[in-house]
Amino acid sequence: MDLYEYQGRALFARHDVPVLDGGVATTVDEAVGIAERLNGRVVVKAQVKVGGRGKAGGVKLADTVEEARARATDILGMDIKGHTVKKVMMTVTADIDSEYYFSFLLDRANRTFLCIASTEGGVEIEQVAETAPDKVLKLPIDAIAGVDEKVAGEIVDRAGFPADLKDQLVSMFVKLWETFVSEDATLVEVNPLVRTPAGKALALDAKVTLDDNADFRHPDRAELADAGTQDPLELKAKEADLNYVKLDGQVGIIGNGAGLVMSTLDVVAYAGERHGNVKPANFLDIGGGASAAVMAAGLEVVLSDPDVRSVFVNVFGGITACDEVANGIVGALQMLAERGENVNKPLVVRLDGNNAELGRSILNEADHPLVTQVDTMDGAADKAAELAGKGA
Ligand code: GDP
Ligand code: MN
Repeated sequence: MDLYEYQGRALFARHDVPVLDGGVATTVDEAVGIAERLNGRVVVKAQVKVGGRGKAGGVKLADTVEEARARATDILGMDIKGHTVKKVMMTVTADIDSEYYFSFLLDRANRTFLCIASTEGGVEIEQVAETAPDKVLKLPIDAIAGVDEKVAGEIVDRAGFPADLKDQLVSMFVKLWETFVSEDATLVEVNPLVRTPAGKALALDAKVTLDDNADFRHPDRAELADAGTQDPLELKAKEADLNYVKLDGQVGIIGNGAGLVMSTLDVVAYAGERHGNVKPANFLDIGGGASAAVMAAGLEVVLSDPDVRSVFVNVFGGITACDEVANGIVGALQMLAERGENVNKPLVVRLDGNNAELGRSILNEADHPLVTQVDTMDGAADKAAELAGKGA
């Protein structure tokens, strides 16, 4: 989960990373109240989960409370790259001598953690990496050894940060590493990290991504998720504990096993080219134990997607045999009908693997008017795409 800047900044503050005083507001009056408390000279910052706010006009300085009111009025409700600004953060304005870049992140490709640091901050780091790659330090961080004062000192020296800031930066980097580890983050980015004319190092921006897989270790985290920016179908799926990702096509997909579902997406997208360019509408992995209850929960989410015109249920029986899955499908359709759900979209089912024959005969006997069976994955993908294409 990506955090808003004000949430990331709160994590920084909790771990003693130096940030400036401030607050977050959802209305102009609230914003003015914060500006008054901070004596008027404030930065007004749009809170959206997208980068480049500064360039898009979402970061503005004010010298007085009245200016702060005007800037908050401008920014609240503004559209930044398709995100509506619902909150603004107001902080004390820092005087800036230099802007630097700093981050810790999970480097999946190299299976390690990575520190990226540069004296050329403020702008996008990708840009610096392109124009002046020698100005960007990339240092792999050992997960076990982590970042102590020695490693932090090495980062300061190798990135070329000024020597007179060393003590402050060493302390900040160690604290940022503590934040990264103890909050189970996959990204902690400070851009810009600034030096003030008085020689103080401050974190002026906070970009934090938390690892959702570690949520169980952070029971207080539920409040960070904001329903507003999450897809309603994804929320519904999450409540049912399903691995669901909304996509923008028309063929609903249900499968067992992430690998099978991903290849199903490919096969459907490919077949879709022959049927009016229909595409997969979602990713949904119902996992190993495809019981009637889980199948019903999955079908309910997929069928409630208004874009879906057909559903492809692609199951390879393994530990969960196909006859259990077939009973799951029959039971699920019955369950949804009893609940009064409007099940009116065609289902294409492909069963293969353990007890496939038995599974298929169960579906044949049930003879549900919406269910079509196709024995191969390619054939079934084609049929599902064809049905979705016709529904256009
Ligand atoms: P981003 O564009 O979304 O990354 O937003 P940032 O929070 O990084 O702000 C963008 C730019 O606004 C920074 O690089 C600074 O140049 C400027 N800025 C942000 N906060 C302050 C501040 O307290 N004082 C001054 N003078 N400039 C600031
Ligand atoms: Mn920034």
